[in-house]
Amino acid sequence: MGMPKMNNKKIVIVGGGTSGWLSAAYLAKRLKQASSSLLDITLIESSDIPTIGVGEATIPGIRQTLSELGISEKLFMRSCSATFKQAIKFVDWVNEPENGHSSHYYHNFSEPLKAGPEMYAPYWALEKKAIGRDYSYSATIQSQLCDKYLAPKRLNDKDYTGPMHYAYHFDAGKFATLLKTEAKKNGVKHLVGNVSDVVKHSNGDIALLKTKEHGELIADLYIDCTGFSAHLIEKSMDSEFKNINDVLFVDSAVTALVEYEEGEEIATATSSTAKEAGWVWDIALATRRGTGYVYSSKYTTKQRAEEVLKEYIGKQGVNVKFRHLDMKVGYREKQWVNNCISIGLSAGFIEPLESTGIHLVEIALKTLINLFPWKGSNKASALQFNKLMQSQFQGTIDFIKMHYALSKRTDSDFWLDNQKKQTMPATLVEFLERCEYRVPNVFDLPVGPQCFNLFSYLSVLYGMGYVPDLEHVRSQFKHWPQARQMTHQIDEILKRACVELPNHRHYIEELNRGELPNTK
Ligand code: FAD
Repeated sequence: MGMPKMNNKKIVIVGGGTSGWLSAAYLAKRLKQASSSLLDITLIESSDIPTIGVGEATIPGIRQTLSELGISEKLFMRSCSATFKQAIKFVDWVNEPENGHSSHYYHNFSEPLKAGPEMYAPYWALEKKAIGRDYSYSATIQSQLCDKYLAPKRLNDKDYTGPMHYAYHFDAGKFATLLKTEAKKNGVKHLVGNVSDVVKHSNGDIALLKTKEHGELIADLYIDCTGFSAHLIEKSMDSEFKNINDVLFVDSAVTALVEYEEGEEIATATSSTAKEAGWVWDIALATRRGTGYVYSSKYTTKQRAEEVLKEYIGKQGVNVKFRHLDMKVGYREKQWVNNCISIGLSAGFIEPLESTGIHLVEIALKTLINLFPWKGSNKASALQFNKLMQSQFQGTIDFIKMHYALSKRTDSDFWLDNQKKQTMPATLVEFLERCEYRVPNVFDLPVGPQCFNLFSYLSVLYGMGYVPDLEHVRSQFKHWPQARQMTHQIDEILKRACVELPNHRHYIEELNRGELPNTK
């Protein structure tokens, strides 16, 4: 049972969900480019342990990943029933609806326009009453594009580019199938079977995996993509799971697929509607909508959760099937232990409010290829990987909690408890303190690479109504003529965009019709 030669790297990936197949496709493509050393990647997945089967909304970094994989955008979109996502629409997050009247704001993906060389945000904060528009409608046209169901790009725009910044909604099962094809094209071996035992060396490294169907599997690196069960990293490598239910309360979900009505518009934003013990997602794919109520089992029951989702879906929900899921919310501080790396739900999961699940997989893979231990010990690479991934998870947790912390809803203990300082990480409390009398800048953001940039923070802070009092520094701002032009400028850009950009449903139907148009 000798170790394979160090320069011929052997990797075994356990798990065939989104994270397993994305890892296989990405590592096969990128590591081959990075070194002439021989690479041997095997993915083993169980036929009787199902994948999680959800995870359909993404953030814009996915475009870079797909482009690095060398997949054509139109092929990807057609194969995965994909649609465009330009924003997240937060409905009823600030206050509960009053007399049936809802309110909303958008977390847009396009960067806001500037007031001359400066950020527009402080000008808006100082003059918001006179401007008379919410922040998300003030400095970009994207909220209005979402309201008008317009696509972020034209059919003849090049792959992965367009006038607006965007991500996608897609069918998670079809996405895994596409990635499987890509991975196999790049030489990944595919086995179907169950990993039953993990045998370790005395130094703590995994020596081999035992399977009933394929005997022993030996590798240099073992990637645990086994989902919440964390078959290798938790059961054999003893990496502790840090539960964060005291900060992010939601731990359960009920989901349902909804058919479109004839000619129904296809939304280009993920919608998140706050409810008494959580929120409902609504994701529009090319062929159907996917909905789900993510809730806290401490504050409501399964039965009530199903009622809330049914009520949300309305008449289209009469014959839908409901599926209940438990979520393990938290992460491991040690995601890479000895020669075992956990990626995906086995490494951690933060509730899907900002669609960070797949993005965190992408980040882990990008970190891994850059730190890849082609020779020598894994130890120093593992330490750095763990530091970087911890910072990603912590920053994301703060960002998600901020949505709840700034709510003024008083309709349930779920919302009231979320607003209590003792349920917030100290880093978030400090961040909010810094934002009380100042527009935050990049120096205010968590240390290390992060899922979200400053504009995302501003969208949520100001969307939730946490706007700083800046009167004491009014004289610092010198670009009032440009700032005052902004509303007019936005209206002019919007007029042009409405002529140029196609209706989203039209784009999707054209995309899925006949031959693939010839763009690259
Ligand atoms: P899984 O899909 O659970 O796959 C695990 C795999 O491991 C399976 O193939 C299984 O067969 C295999 N396996 C397990 N044990 C063994 C064994 N012993 N031997 C062999 N094989 C084994 N992310 C987003 O980016 N956007 C979203 O909108 C989003 N929404 C979500 C909503 C909910 C309610 C939940 C729970 C998650 C959501 N996520 C979202 C997260 C996203 O679903 C996951 O990050 C993604 O699907 C990756 O899952 P996975 O591949 O790690 O695990």
